[in-house]
Amino acid sequence: MGLKLTRGAFAHPGTSLRYHTGSWRMERPVHVHRPAPCHSVCPAGEDAQAWLGLVAEERYREAWETIVAANPLPAVTGRVCHHPCEQACNRGHYDEPIAIHHVERWLGDQAIASGWDYPAAAVAHDAPAVAVIGGGPAGCSAAWQLTCLGYRVDLFEALPVAGGLLRSALPPYRLPRDILDAELERLLASGIAFRPAQRLGRDFSLDELKTEYAAVFMAPGTQRSRDWDVDGATPHDLHIGLDLLKRWVDIGSIPSWSSAAIIGGGNTAIDLARVLRHCGVETVHVVTHQSLPHAGVEQPDTMPAIAREIEQAMEEGVIFHEHRGVQRLVLRGEQVTGLELVHRKQLRETDNTLRHVSFEGTESLLHVDQVIPAIGQTVDPAGLASLLDQRDYLLASEHGRISGHPGLYAGGDACGRHGSVSAAIGDGRRAALAIARDLQRQADPDSRPADPVTPAQLNMNYFEPRPRQHAPVLPVAERSGEAEVIGGLTPQQAAQESQRCLSCGNCLACDNCWTLCPDVAVLKTRRPAEDGSHYVFDYDFCKGCGLCARECPTAYIMMEAEP
Ligand SMILES: Cc1cc2nc3c(=O)[nH]c(=O)nc-3n(C[C@H](O)[C@H](O)[C@H](O)COP(=O)(O)OP(=O)(O)OC[C@H]3O[C@@H](n4cnc5c(N)ncnc54)[C@H](O)[C@@H]3O)c2cc1C
Ligand code: SF4
Ligand code: SF4
Repeated sequence: MGLKLTRGAFAHPGTSLRYHTGSWRMERPVHVHRPAPCHSVCPAGEDAQAWLGLVAEERYREAWETIVAANPLPAVTGRVCHHPCEQACNRGHYDEPIAIHHVERWLGDQAIASGWDYPAAAVAHDAPAVAVIGGGPAGCSAAWQLTCLGYRVDLFEALPVAGGLLRSALPPYRLPRDILDAELERLLASGIAFRPAQRLGRDFSLDELKTEYAAVFMAPGTQRSRDWDVDGATPHDLHIGLDLLKRWVDIGSIPSWSSAAIIGGGNTAIDLARVLRHCGVETVHVVTHQSLPHAGVEQPDTMPAIAREIEQAMEEGVIFHEHRGVQRLVLRGEQVTGLELVHRKQLRETDNTLRHVSFEGTESLLHVDQVIPAIGQTVDPAGLASLLDQRDYLLASEHGRISGHPGLYAGGDACGRHGSVSAAIGDGRRAALAIARDLQRQADPDSRPADPVTPAQLNMNYFEPRPRQHAPVLPVAERSGEAEVIGGLTPQQAAQESQRCLSCGNCLACDNCWTLCPDVAVLKTRRPAEDGSHYVFDYDFCKGCGLCARECPTAYIMMEAEP
């Protein structure tokens, strides 16, 4: 059945419709589906505009399925992603950005509560098999995408359980383990063959995998802490930040110090500082040569930790020393009693490398019981040594290919690039797509993304100011280390928030073009037209006045020169 078009009651065939006035036109309106900025910047590749639209229509399961098509862990990212989507959100230029991550989390939690299965078709028993190493977010994402693409997947994980750093290091007050378990269990049940306690370099080798599998994706993360000393000196009881945090996550105990200084500005430093405070350490300092997040200060000058976590650490009494470095350890015997700090900054050299510069005369003394480095990790070379670059990372292209090693792909933290959950998920997805293309001998698509819709292109006259919905936050006195600090939205809040979305670059079905066209040249369709909207242009009568494009709230209609 063809599309049913509605012109309205006034223009019947046999009247003025026979005069094709569209022949006067210089420009014509066209529908152009352009990416919303929230979509363009999401490291995982989610199209928030698409799923927020479905939430607004109460099509919750479809909304969740739209998310997991790009990101299989929305209940996780909804909690821990640094959500650059919200910084980019066009609504932020009007009143406040959409609380995208809160709605994402709400949908992930809905899926858990409702037990929705991951939407993957059964894989043929003779489909080509791909090995994935590492059950962190990058490995899980690649395994999921490959399953959806019809490949058999063996997911090898060194530990008895999947999750990577999400399980071993992220504190449960940010990511409750029942949520992580519920999301991972259902994901792994989608057709992925999970092989726990199987470590590359110990239980099998890369050469064995290369002969047994059509391709291998490696996402072992970074497991080896960087060495740390001050002019060759280290205290004899030095604890490494990530090890200490993992120990607390694992067994829930931390040594009873009265004061500690953590060196570093990343997530590990902040999480550890907060855990120490929750465990009763009275004075906790974070020393970083970078800056606290301030408007206008960009990476690499800003601490890489998530701004919201830094804020909450401050609320909990953590003391920050920005632009400071350790000049000297003050030791009694081999025991730390203090640190000499100096004003220190990173300067970018002409060859783009970074150099630390200390400013003489700015020294100060900090008395502490413990100094704990949290300065990052590199890849454990066991089983992978021949593939590591000079910095001890796996060097992979944007699509995850390892140059000179056909059939081998890598992603996530092991590539030393971005260090976030959503980026690892995006790496896994892109590598899975590249694996499928390579196995089917297809070329990569033209990867130049279309420009996202800007605030200036939207017609904001059609939107009312509406306040952003806020999630509840646990009072400082109740933060124990276990209880989740940030709560979830109510169903009503999630619905209201999704309705605030401006639908940038997409049809809102608002009827503006249909009602405002002076020539009745916009026709409304009862079923979605080919481009997904409910409108088509009748070029026989459109005179190219451009009113529809000007009045389209979402920049979905553009005027283009008449061919
Ligand atoms: C304390 C802390 C807090 C963080 N907080 C956040 C946050 O709030 N938001 C955010 O976006 N990011 C955060 N991050 C960063 C984020 O956790 C990582 O970027 C992300 O987990 C990387 O995913 P991955 O899959 O590459 O590696 P990982 O998560 O490290 O997973 C790698 C997996 O591979 C397995 N493995 C390793 N070697 C082998 C082997 N030889 N054979 C088989 N399996 C192997 C490991 O056991 C592990 O399960 C945080 C990191 C830390 C340390
Ligand atoms: S994964 Fe992160 S950036 Fe992407 S939509 Fe979710 S919160 Fe936003
Ligand atoms: S208003 Fe909606 S579509 Fe536009 S950037 Fe924000 S979340 Fe994305």
